Amino acid sequence: MTDTCDYSDFSQMGTAAEIPVYADENDGIVSCKLCHNNCVIKNGRFGSCGVRGNKSGRAIIPFYGFISSLAVDPIEKKPLYHFKPGSQILSLGFTGCNLHCPFCQNWRISQKTDIQGRYMKPGEIISSALKYDTSSIAYTYSEPLVHIEFLLDCMALARRHGIANVLVTNGCINQHAAKELLKLTDAANVDLKSFSDDTYKQLLGGDLQTTLNYIKLCYIMNVHLEITTLVVPQLNDSSRELSEIADFIVSLDKKKIPWHLSAYHPEYRWNAPPTESGFLLNSAKEARKKLMYVYTGNISAVNDTSCENCGEILVRRNGYRVNVFGEVSMQDTENKKNENISFPLLPGARYKCGKCGKMSGIIC
Ligand code: SF4
Ligand code: SF4
Repeated sequence: MTDTCDYSDFSQMGTAAEIPVYADENDGIVSCKLCHNNCVIKNGRFGSCGVRGNKSGRAIIPFYGFISSLAVDPIEKKPLYHFKPGSQILSLGFTGCNLHCPFCQNWRISQKTDIQGRYMKPGEIISSALKYDTSSIAYTYSEPLVHIEFLLDCMALARRHGIANVLVTNGCINQHAAKELLKLTDAANVDLKSFSDDTYKQLLGGDLQTTLNYIKLCYIMNVHLEITTLVVPQLNDSSRELSEIADFIVSLDKKKIPWHLSAYHPEYRWNAPPTESGFLLNSAKEARKKLMYVYTGNISAVNDTSCENCGEILVRRNGYRVNVFGEVSMQDTENKKNENISFPLLPGARYKCGKCGKMSGIIC
């Protein structure tokens, strides 16, 4: 059953489920422990994300299962370039966000909760994925992490149906919750918006260290990881800051984690002119001195992936038209970085170079 609902009609909202794991309830006050904001929420109010609240002293999540958008996208749109290239992915959008980026490109659903949408159950999401024959589901558009209870339910069900789970996220979530979620996550694209504590705290309402910890955890837990930085003029576009981000990525895994540098367009409260294509291309060129896989987004550019050994093209991309030339190999050379954690992954098939046979990090 799918209900439609307007936020203004609170009585029709999903069950006001309790959130005992991520919140304490004391003397009528709810203390949410899910993210760096650690909100102390009074009766009748919501936390900074706008979706986790206090009703008569009880922690509530009335947006459990509230879906603001449901679409089938090319996986490259997430962006993920080294995970199931050329495939389609069922993409779910929610509402609310624990950050408040002034340049948010999705502010109509991330910074407001009085939006149109519909309630869906995890089973309905899986049915949609099966109906559209997508082998993966993305939790994306606004910030999925603040809907962790729904994600855990939906991801567990997806796993049981052999469907991969993809998180597209700001990574601002406390470690205990992140660990639980990442056990069910196959791939993540994490925004690393800046390398400045001040920018994260004062401008975005986020926390740099929490984000870095989340990214490290993705890596340790063997989740396929790609990182995105929206290059925003006057915010994070200094060569020093971009270089610091590249150094951090290198510190995780030598050179192999893909980094997407995306062009910003004026949106919400940020009026600086759009990122210039030439600047973005130059920044990518600089970054490629440190990292093997740097891609540009929201501009027209060559974004192919070549074999790291012989240079043969493995994946050719023309916009969202994708041709994969690598050969499927079941040999998995990169799995199990941490033997104490026995997850994910899907079977571990990767593409290898059709010319020299070198295994790539690209998951089939
Ligand atoms: S998840 Fe929401 S309510 Fe909880 S601490 Fe973060 S912003 Fe506050
Ligand atoms: S974290 Fe993402 S969704 Fe949230 S405000 Fe920032 S850009 Fe928007």
